[in-house]
Amino acid sequence: MELRKVILIHPGREGRIFGKAPASPYTLMRLASLVPSEIAVEIWDQDWENLDGKFRYLNKHDLVGITAKTLAVETAERYAQLAHQAGVQAVVVGGAHATLMPEDVARWADVVVTGEAYYTWPKIIADFQNDTLQPLYNDTNWADLTGVAPLTDRVINMVDERHRYWTPLLEITRGCPRSCTFCTAIRVSGQRMRFRPIDEIIEEIKRRGIDRFFLTDDNFGLAFAIDYDYSEKLFLALEKLPLRGWTTQAEMMVAKYPDLLKLSRRAHLDKFFIGFESINPSNRRELGGKSKGLTSQYQEAINEIQAHGVGVVGLFVFGFDADTPKVMWETWEFGKKSGLDSMSATILTPYPGTPFRDQLIEENRLITTKSWRYYDTAHVTYYPKCMTVEEFEQAYDRLCRAIYHPFRIAQRGLRALSRHPWRRIPSKMFGSFSTDYGYRRTFAWRYEL
Ligand code: SF4
Repeated sequence: MELRKVILIHPGREGRIFGKAPASPYTLMRLASLVPSEIAVEIWDQDWENLDGKFRYLNKHDLVGITAKTLAVETAERYAQLAHQAGVQAVVVGGAHATLMPEDVARWADVVVTGEAYYTWPKIIADFQNDTLQPLYNDTNWADLTGVAPLTDRVINMVDERHRYWTPLLEITRGCPRSCTFCTAIRVSGQRMRFRPIDEIIEEIKRRGIDRFFLTDDNFGLAFAIDYDYSEKLFLALEKLPLRGWTTQAEMMVAKYPDLLKLSRRAHLDKFFIGFESINPSNRRELGGKSKGLTSQYQEAINEIQAHGVGVVGLFVFGFDADTPKVMWETWEFGKKSGLDSMSATILTPYPGTPFRDQLIEENRLITTKSWRYYDTAHVTYYPKCMTVEEFEQAYDRLCRAIYHPFRIAQRGLRALSRHPWRRIPSKMFGSFSTDYGYRRTFAWRYEL
């Protein structure tokens, strides 16, 4: 069939914040870059604009691709309906939820894509043109990241991320060898850590014209242990760029590499988002070997990282089987005195494909009335073991009101700012407060649904 246009859709619920959408649609930018240059391509991002009115201009010669996390999959289904009403015959759905639960998406999508799609997406485009589309494409290879889906200038110009998005995203590594029982990332990206060539990363940053970014990497910090030389060379290369700063997820063992920490600061790294997850040692089995629930170790790691001029955002999850409201409040007490730059408090969520969800299903503990849109880490979607759902919700509300009180956000933000020399304070202002502000917005969704 003649292919008129490819539309790639990102369903998002945040909308614009002070005129810009939160984070650029990086995965779709890379998939759009794989569309042959003679075929028109557009990226529609719900965080940037309302999409409902745009579907009526589509027809059967258009190929629609939708990416969706579990949280957004109901919106993705609605967009698929709107596309079908306009006459589209090929709605392709991929992303985390399709990978983890393809049978759920297959109910309403014409084509389901599992895995990373860098190899299957070009084939889907060709199959559309040859009228040989299949209902399911499995990308079972964990792609070697060398040369995978480089961003084209056409896509970079089209997205205009410097003006439309607060935070450009970037990928350096993918995959994580840990085995946290609640994690979807390792089911979507695999447990072998893969690395992009450093020259490709530097070239991409320059061509995009970005001077700050957040890494999409699942656990960038593990690169310190897995490939020390790569980490060193990467930081030396990033140091030469005129960056304002960047941030990434990691685990606390980065604190054991003072030389790399020193280099990371010179490479303009602002903050590590460290997944401490729990201060309850009884939960260590669920934490996949990356932490043991010991606050003394957490404090040592925070001190060491901050001593090198890099900030620490502490990520905590609540609702493991040994958790109680008391544990939640003790986490706040630790957070207050720990000197963290920002703090994230989320509710454990039983995402498809995880051992945690399997356990809950076996024990009949899922709250089946909670649809996918409640899977946002701010809602309780299962029956916890050592507290009732109501006790859990009340304790979570109390905790978040304490953590995200404007006074506390200001206090942590000013502390983070104080680590920078005076001349750099204007450029660090946004990042010092925006993380906590973003978490406060996530918490606020508890009352939106
Ligand atoms: S360390 Fe992070 S990315 Fe790795 S398995 Fe655990 S939660 Fe997932």
